[in-house]
Amino acid sequence: KVTEYVRQAGGRTLFSLEIIPPLKGQNINQLLDSIEPLMEFKPPFVDVTYHREEVIDKQLPNGLIQRIPVRKRPGTVGICARLMERFKVDAVPHVICGGFTREETEDMLIDLHYLGIDNVLVLRGDAEKSVGVFMPKAGGHCYASELIEQVVSMNHGKLLHEETEGTPTNFCIGVAGYPEKHLEAQDLDTDFRYLKKKVDAGAEYIVTQMFFDNQKYFRFVERCRAEGIQVPIIPGLKPLSTKKQLSILPRIFHLDMPPELVAEVEKCDTDQQVRQVGIEWGIQQCRELLAYGVPVLHFYTMGKSDNVLQIARGVF
Ligand code: FAD
Repeated sequence: KVTEYVRQAGGRTLFSLEIIPPLKGQNINQLLDSIEPLMEFKPPFVDVTYHREEVIDKQLPNGLIQRIPVRKRPGTVGICARLMERFKVDAVPHVICGGFTREETEDMLIDLHYLGIDNVLVLRGDAEKSVGVFMPKAGGHCYASELIEQVVSMNHGKLLHEETEGTPTNFCIGVAGYPEKHLEAQDLDTDFRYLKKKVDAGAEYIVTQMFFDNQKYFRFVERCRAEGIQVPIIPGLKPLSTKKQLSILPRIFHLDMPPELVAEVEKCDTDQQVRQVGIEWGIQQCRELLAYGVPVLHFYTMGKSDNVLQIARGVF
């Protein structure tokens, strides 16, 4: 379990990463090969994101439009199995509310249990792009806290429609936290109230949204502790790699770019230079987080890991 790894490390900072499944039809070995060099840092666990279906409009020969739900990045559960087999790491699949009924979620959690997976990161999931606001599937959960309750029930052997108790699952539950506020939350107070609700419902650790200014993380941790949230808070880190991300990341993830980082990136003529700036910034960020004593440095690799490798070599 993620929390056991953190406890056993006894204050030493661990290294971990998140990967996203390849686009449908692409070769999985390419993704696995790309993270192989990172195994040098002995990640005890690797997260695998889950992606909801998006509705696409397909024109039929008769001119009518058919709306078809398509998952562009399927394969989360299969990738978890491959990760465990090839790298002997624990896989942490993300489990989302969006696009699933409670029954479908139950079946997926049973699949994970059969695979010997004992960790899940429980999330609501984002809104469908074409809809713009989060809509649960009929019979699905509206918030991560509701999905946590379902996982906790299964950990107690309780299934949705069975009279008798089943074999208990053994999931350690992680959740997302937002040092710069979740984009939909009206204010930080509200966001902390719901984060506390997730922990009270059974979340055992928090992984943060990416941030580029460590002060945001430090303040977030202080506020969590003040609110009585005592679980480990794992910083999520993404090395900046293109100039475009200066505007894209704040818009999508609701975060601030430190002016010093923006100034350095603005001086670059090519994305290769930006990548180098991102690596240097990442190394400074990680050194400070290590000195602070974070439990894990958790990297969002987004399919490319050369920059994460260089940062890890610079700090571990
Ligand atoms: P919640 O905790 O449910 O919160 C959602 C919003 O509702 C917040 O604004 C919160 O303040 C508010 N809220 C919560 N409970 C209530 C309530 N009871 N009443 C009213 N308001 C409430 N997305 C994916 O699709 N797949 C992934 O694999 C994935 N991985 C992620 C990993 C990490 C580390 C992070 C930080 C995010 C990830 N996301 C992923 C994105 C995530 O799904 C979105 O940020 C989503 O919009 C919110 O998810 P959540 O679990 O934080 O939601």
